[in-house]
Amino acid sequence: MDAIEGQKYFYPNRWARIILTSAEEIVGDKGVAALLNMAGLQKYIGNYPPDNMEKEFSFTEIGKLQQAFWDMYGPRGARVFATRAGQQSLKDGMTSFGSVARAAQVAMKIGSMDKRIETGLHFFAKFFNTVSDQVVSIDKDDDNWYWIIERCPLCCGRTSDKPVCHLAVGVLQGAILWASEGKQYRITPIECIACGDGGCRIQIEKKPLD
Ligand SMILES: [Zn+2]
Repeated sequence: MDAIEGQKYFYPNRWARIILTSAEEIVGDKGVAALLNMAGLQKYIGNYPPDNMEKEFSFTEIGKLQQAFWDMYGPRGARVFATRAGQQSLKDGMTSFGSVARAAQVAMKIGSMDKRIETGLHFFAKFFNTVSDQVVSIDKDDDNWYWIIERCPLCCGRTSDKPVCHLAVGVLQGAILWASEGKQYRITPIECIACGDGGCRIQIEKKPLD
């Protein structure tokens, strides 16, 4: 999605805020100010989006912010920030929507681990599709599940030769850990709209690590 179209779609304020506060834990408020400067988002310096779930932070702004992490800290550094922000968003979501999450967890107790994770992925996809303008679908084959972001804020307005949507990996790490009650799975972004693919496809291997 290009930067013009991205202005029509929004992420909740709180999640944009989490991207900034979780970065602040690493680089301090001066570091975040420098990032916002680089992103051309000076209006948020010392003035983070409010702590609410109103859909007001545009996909274009999310994309600019992610690009600024990339420009300032390189792909590896950007990945660290993004993964951390993703984990934080998920944790916050679970706290804020505790009763929904608990109901899902009860429903998931039935059946095999595979079934539980699959139910969890569908639950989170629905949750994300509801509280943001992001569009996520789930697919699978014999060896993997796929989290497919069809309308993605993270790479909005960006081009790259490698997938860039690592924030989604952080979200999924948290989600899978929660759904599996502690088992770890390999999660890899394999396609990205920034690379010219049709969607941002994150692969989750069904075989757990260790
Ligand atoms: Zn993307």
